[in-house]
Amino acid sequence: MYDVLIVGGGAAGYAAGIYAARAGLRTLVLTGDEPGGQMGIAETVENYPGTGALDGPKLAEDMRRDAQRAGAELRMERAVEVSLREYRVRTARETYEGRTLIYAAGASPRRLEVPGEERFRGRGVSWCAACDGAFFRGKDVAVVGGGSSAVSEALTLSHVCRRVYLLHRRDALRAERRLTERLEEAENVTFLWNVQVEAVLGRETVTGLAYRELPGGCRRELPCAGVFVAAGRKPNTELLQGQLELDAGGYVPADETTRTAVPGVFAAGDVRTKAVRQVVTAAADGAVAALMAAKFLQNPQK
Ligand code: NAP
Repeated sequence: MYDVLIVGGGAAGYAAGIYAARAGLRTLVLTGDEPGGQMGIAETVENYPGTGALDGPKLAEDMRRDAQRAGAELRMERAVEVSLREYRVRTARETYEGRTLIYAAGASPRRLEVPGEERFRGRGVSWCAACDGAFFRGKDVAVVGGGSSAVSEALTLSHVCRRVYLLHRRDALRAERRLTERLEEAENVTFLWNVQVEAVLGRETVTGLAYRELPGGCRRELPCAGVFVAAGRKPNTELLQGQLELDAGGYVPADETTRTAVPGVFAAGDVRTKAVRQVVTAAADGAVAALMAAKFLQNPQK
C-alpha cells in the first residue's frame, strides 16, 4: 500500500514524485514504458527556467533521477486499468494500491485520420522529428500542422532534409513567434497555406501525400518520402472514462489545486483542464498535486 500512486513519467509525474517523497510519503511513480513523456522526445527544451537549452531526454532523465533520489519508487510500467475510487492501478505485471492517486498521464499526438496514415506508420509517417528525422536525411518531407509543434518539427527536419514542406489548413501559423521567425529564415522550407491533407500515398513506404486547396479547390499531390504529423495533442484519459466527467476536449476538470471530483484523486500536467501546457506548468502541477495529496492524507474530509 502506497501513500501516493502516481501515473505518469513526464514532468508532472516526476515533480509529484519528488514532492511526495520529500514530504515523507510512500510514493510509487508508474512511468509507462517510454518514460519522459513529451519532454523525452523533444529535441531541445529552451524555456525551462534555470536549465539553459537542454535536450529533452536529458531534462527528463535529470527529473527521473531527482525523483529517485528524493525516495520515490519508480517502475517502468504502463497502467492498463485505473480505479479512481479505490486508488488502484493495474499494469501488465501487477496491481498497485494507494491511499491517494495522482493522474499525470499526459497527452499523445493527434492523428489526421486520413487514408494511409496508419498504414504507413513507421514506414514514412511519424509524429516525432527528433526520433525519426535522421531516416530522411537528404530527402523531401512534409510537416502537417500550424502550431509550435509543427514549426519546431519543421525546424528540426530542415537541418537534415533536402526540402521541408509545411502544410497548414489556415493562412497563418499560431506558433511561438521566435520559432516562426527561425523557420522563415530556413532556405529549404516551403509553406503551403490553406490546404487540407486528404491522404498519405505510397506502396511499401511513403511516396507523397494528397491535399486539397481550401476552400473546395483542386486536389494535388506532393511527392515526399516522409510525413510528420504535428496536429496538436489529445489527453490520455481513456482509462478514466465513466469514472469522472471529462470536459469537451477529454481533459480532467480540476482547478489550480489539481483536485478532481473524486476525493483523494488529483490531475496534474497536460491531462488537466488548463490554459497553458508547457513543461514548467506540468512540473508546477506535479508539485501542487503532491502537496494536496499530503494534505488529504492528514485530513481526508477537506
Ligand atoms: P496546437 O497549438 O494545438 O496546434 C495544432 C495545430 O494542428 C493547429 O495549427 C491546428 O490547426 C492543426 N490541426 C489540428 N488538427 C488538424 C487536422 N486534422 N488536420 C490538419 N491540421 C490540424 O498544438 P501544438 O503545436 O502541438 O502545441 C501544443 C502546445 O505545446 C502549445 O501550447 C505550444 O505552445 C506548446 N509547444 C511549445 C513548443 C516550444 O518550443 N515552446 C514546441 C511545441 C509545442 P488550426 O490552427 O486550424 O486549429
